[in-house]
Amino acid sequence: MITGMWENIKLVCKEHGCALILMPPAGEYKSPYYACPKYLKENRTPIEKMCGNIIDLITAEKVVENVISQKEKGLNISLKGYKSKVKKGNKIYEFEVIRHTFVDGKEILYIAI
Ligand SMILES: [Zn+2]
Repeated sequence: MITGMWENIKLVCKEHGCALILMPPAGEYKSPYYACPKYLKENRTPIEKMCGNIIDLITAEKVVENVISQKEKGLNISLKGYKSKVKKGNKIYEFEVIRHTFVDGKEILYIAI
């Protein structure tokens, strides 16, 4: 994985727009994973449905590496609107860079998954 980049990368749920939370291994998930806050009961109202938007850390790293590799090509100053997908087994994760900002010289990329 690319260390140092994660602080500049925000993974968000494409359904809810909220930042995905890194969760420790639990239940069927044997390794750390990112989940939508609305996956957790305490973040939902009684009538809200659970959001099953979950991506394991290894696959999330592939997403980040994919986006970073686009940056390195230098084709775009802004990657906003860049879309791609990564596969894990027979599951396909589509993602899109929804925001690419520069704050105090720091570059921040928001990736919706
Ligand atoms: Zn969600």
